[in-house]
Amino acid sequence: MSELTEASIREEVREWLEANWSPDRSLVEWRNILADSGWGVPGWSKQWFGRELPEALIPVVEQEFDRAGAVGVCKTGIRMLAAATLLVHGSEAQKEKFLRRILTGEDTWCQLFSEPGSGSDLAGATTRADFDGEHWKVNGQKVWTTSAHHAQFGLLLARTDWSVPKHQGLSYFVLDIEQDGVDVQPLRQMNGHASFNQVFFTDAKIKPEFQVGELGEGWKIAMTTLMHERRGADGTRRWAMGSNQTGRIYDEERAEVATIMEPYKWYPQRAGRVDLVVERAQEEGRNTDPTLRQEMAKLLIMSRAAEWTGLRARAAQVLGRPQGPEGSLGKLASSNVARQAAHVHTLITGADALLTGEESPRDGLIAEIFVSVPATSIAGGTDEIQRNIISERVLGMPKEPRFDADKAFQDVPKNTIS
Ligand SMILES: Cc1cc2nc3c(=O)[nH]c(=O)nc-3n(C[C@H](O)[C@H](O)[C@H](O)COP(=O)(O)OP(=O)(O)OC[C@H]3O[C@@H](n4cnc5c(N)ncnc54)[C@H](O)[C@@H]3O)c2cc1C
Repeated sequence: MSELTEASIREEVREWLEANWSPDRSLVEWRNILADSGWGVPGWSKQWFGRELPEALIPVVEQEFDRAGAVGVCKTGIRMLAAATLLVHGSEAQKEKFLRRILTGEDTWCQLFSEPGSGSDLAGATTRADFDGEHWKVNGQKVWTTSAHHAQFGLLLARTDWSVPKHQGLSYFVLDIEQDGVDVQPLRQMNGHASFNQVFFTDAKIKPEFQVGELGEGWKIAMTTLMHERRGADGTRRWAMGSNQTGRIYDEERAEVATIMEPYKWYPQRAGRVDLVVERAQEEGRNTDPTLRQEMAKLLIMSRAAEWTGLRARAAQVLGRPQGPEGSLGKLASSNVARQAAHVHTLITGADALLTGEESPRDGLIAEIFVSVPATSIAGGTDEIQRNIISERVLGMPKEPRFDADKAFQDVPKNTIS
């Protein structure tokens, strides 16, 4: 086999796009072609829509797609966490059923992990799944479920055994959201958006073949999902923007971005909009203020260092090293950056930063930054939880005392009915 180099890959992608890319195809038709060609997710295995391309060469493919204006597979939101989890733990039948439609964007997913009584203490989940001889029947409640209001499937963590310690009694399922036993109720956030939902289950059914991995392996599988979520929080993930070009496929992509990406449209603001800081300081004539410049410099240094941490994680991946502490470090760094960015935006804009509406700074965008930034230190595991992980698993410090880790879960006092 000839050696893969940047030049050889560039030439191959370019030729392939010249022969295949057309903006007049439908989005799904094009993405099916991409899935079959392996260029949609070139890092994935050849058996499952990829080319096993080394991580370092993937940006070359992305550059060629950008150059040609070609649309990619649907890599957005929680669907990629579903894909990453199923690639590792899913059965062949599950991969066959779900992966292609994840890439074409035909199915949308959500993550049914957090509950009113178990967010940080995810292993304390009390949503239950009981097997009735034919189906799993699910009863309980989830909360904070991003995108559940337009999802077809959910990644569900549910308790299947109450007689063992909490981490051992959980199992992992794919749940069909569009069924009678599932009630999705949107929640409105303080930034005005409604990305989250609470989801209630009353005898919701799951076919046995939608159980992922072995019974009782739910915690391990959930860690795969969360590892990918935290890795994505370091800012190296690209967001779907929708192009302004003309052609059927671009129209369909814009419509997709408007619906599927709707819950995520405030995510750039939750990251603090570091990109706006210098521009805003100039706009407000504050760029010569020495105190402000000091804070801006601090922010830009923190942001650049966080970017490098993300790139280090990516480099470790390229070398085939297992995920190290970078996931938690990167996630923590992104919280610190977002908080400092909100602070700097306040210094630049002053009290007007609290205003919303047409005459406010940047049409209310600066105010949206303030009320969105706190989400960065909560989503995917709070800052305190990341610090616990770093101190216990990376620095080898003593574990925090846990009174319930070895007890049968049914004997652990809790404030929910089991
Ligand atoms: C933008 C966003 C999107 C989200 N999307 C989803 C989703 O799609 N699906 C989903 O399942 N969940 C989702 N979540 C939920 C998220 O995972 C939880 O909010 C998070 O894990 C924290 O749980 P909690 O809200 O129950 O807080 P709690 O666990 O009640 O924590 C309250 C406070 O106590 C602190 N604390 C708790 N335990 C410890 C400890 N052991 N040591 C030190 N401090 C501790 C926490 O750090 C926090 O400050 C989302 C959250 C956000 C903000």
